[in-house]
Amino acid sequence: MNNKFFIRSKEEAICPCCGESLMVKDSRNRHCLNGKGDRIELRIRRLKCRSCGKIHTELPDFIQPFKRYIASVIEAVIDQTTTSCPAEGSTMRRWKQWFGQSASTINGILMAASLFFTREAIPLMVPTSLLQTLRDTGSGWLKKAMRQLVNSGNWPLF
Ligand SMILES: [Zn+2]
Repeated sequence: MNNKFFIRSKEEAICPCCGESLMVKDSRNRHCLNGKGDRIELRIRRLKCRSCGKIHTELPDFIQPFKRYIASVIEAVIDQTTTSCPAEGSTMRRWKQWFGQSASTINGILMAASLFFTREAIPLMVPTSLLQTLRDTGSGWLKKAMRQLVNSGNWPLF
């Protein structure tokens, strides 16, 4: 089985800091682990902003920043829908702890993005959680949430 992938987005990359276009700087090897614990080799591009000069890594959305396992594995542990995760117990506990600590921040970023795109105010006194709404849509919610975070330029917070 070939577990090597070259990651290259077909969309034009835009700097999350200033909105200008990005150019390819170089690429780096990275690996991640799937639900069976198999190692997947990735070649990931680093992009440099033509305007502000910041470097952004072109992470595919199944990759979680700073985490070894792919998003669907982490999501299944957070949702407690798996009984056969190859990660160690301490790693799984860290994921749950990370999510517990980050959930309100992630929700805040989702709400800010929603407000930006829809121009509709979200009532503050109603306990609406966009993160929970996203989770209710079923598998793939963590990938979708992380895509918003990365696009908003907020993922280095985690
Ligand atoms: Zn920029």
